[in-house]
Amino acid sequence: MQKPSVLIVGAGIAGVACAQALRSAGITARIVDRGRRAGGRMASRTINGRTVDLGAAYFTAEPGSGFAGVVDGWVERGLARPWTDTIAVAGPDGIQRSSTGPMRYAAPSGLRGLVVDLATGLEVEQGITIEHVAPGEADGERYDTEVLAMPDPQARRLLDEASTLREKLDDGSGWAPSIAVVLEWASREWEPFHAAFVNDAPTLSSLADDGDRRGDGANVLVAHTTAELALEHLDDPDRAIAPAIEAVQRLLSLKDAPLHSFAHRWTFARPTSQHAEPFQLDDGIGVCGDAWGERSSVATAWASGDALGRAIAAG
Ligand SMILES: Cc1cc2nc3c(=O)[nH]c(=O)nc-3n(C[C@H](O)[C@H](O)[C@H](O)COP(=O)(O)OP(=O)(O)OC[C@H]3O[C@@H](n4cnc5c(N)ncnc54)[C@H](O)[C@@H]3O)c2cc1C
Repeated sequence: MQKPSVLIVGAGIAGVACAQALRSAGITARIVDRGRRAGGRMASRTINGRTVDLGAAYFTAEPGSGFAGVVDGWVERGLARPWTDTIAVAGPDGIQRSSTGPMRYAAPSGLRGLVVDLATGLEVEQGITIEHVAPGEADGERYDTEVLAMPDPQARRLLDEASTLREKLDDGSGWAPSIAVVLEWASREWEPFHAAFVNDAPTLSSLADDGDRRGDGANVLVAHTTAELALEHLDDPDRAIAPAIEAVQRLLSLKDAPLHSFAHRWTFARPTSQHAEPFQLDDGIGVCGDAWGERSSVATAWASGDALGRAIAAG
C-alpha cells in the first residue's frame, strides 16, 4: 500500500472533514487521535447505560452551505434530527424569555456518532498521541503535509519554538474552559424547555434537556459551567458538581436532588476570538478547527477542515 503523504492529527469533525476532502481528491491521509474514539468535542459518553452529549449541545447549518448537504444526509438516514429553533434565555433565578433563531440539530444516538459516520471509509487510528511536528516530519515519520486539527494551544505544543506558524496560534489565553455537569433526576419536575442560555450567572452558562434533545425523554439535564467556575475546578472537576446542582435547582425551581451526577472537564472548550482566515497552511503544516472562521461552532470546524483538505489537494 502507498504510504500516506498527509498526516492529520485530530479526529474531531475538522480533521475528519479534511481527510474526506483529501479522499475525494484521491489523496490518502493517515488520521490519528489520542482519544479512544473519534469525535473530539462532539463528545457523547455512556452514563448509567444511556448516551449523553457532553460537549457541543447541538449544531446549526447555514442553508445552502457544504455542511448543510452533510446534515441533510444525516437527517435522511435518521442520524440527526432538527431539534428546535427556540432557546430559552435565563438569568441566575430563572428562565426569562425565549429566543427564536436558526434550527438547532441534535443526534438521537449522540453527536459523536455523526463524526464516526463522517469518518466512513477512513481508518482512524485511535489512542495515538503525536508529540512533535515539523515541516516534512512528525514524530520521526516523513510526510509531505501535516494537519493539526485541534484547538490552537494544543497545536502550539507540537511545534518548534522557532516556528513562524506557532507564533500565529493562540497560547491558550484566548480559549475558555468549561465543565459539563450531567444530572439525572427521578422525574421531570421542570417546566418544559429545550435548552437555555444563562446570562449574568456565576456558575452556569447554559443548560440543555438531554432527554428532549436526544428524543428519549430521559430525565437528564446537561449544564455547562462558566469559564470562571471551570477555572477554579479544572484540577478536580467533580468539585463543580455541587455548585452546578444548586444553580440548576434555583434556575428551574427544583427541590429534590438529582439521583446521579457526572462531571467532564473541557480545558479548551471554545475560543474567545476567531481567526479571520478559514485555516492556516505554512511550510507544509496546516491548522484547522472551530477557531478558523466567523464563530466557533461545529459548522465552522467542518468548513475549516474541508477547506484545508481542498487547499492541500489543489497543491
Ligand atoms: C462544552 C462545549 C459546548 C459546545 N457547544 C456547542 C454548540 O452548542 N454548538 C456548536 O456548534 N458547537 C459547540 N461547541 C463547539 C464544538 O464542539 C467545536 O467547535 C467542534 O466540535 C470542534 O471540532 P474540531 O475538530 O475543530 O476540534 P476537536 O473536536 O477539539 O478535535 C480535536 C481532536 O484532536 C485530538 N488531539 C489533540 N491533540 C492531539 C495530539 N497531540 N495527538 C493526537 N490527537 C490529538 C483530540 O483528542 C480531539 O479529538 C461546544 C464545545 C464545548 C466543549
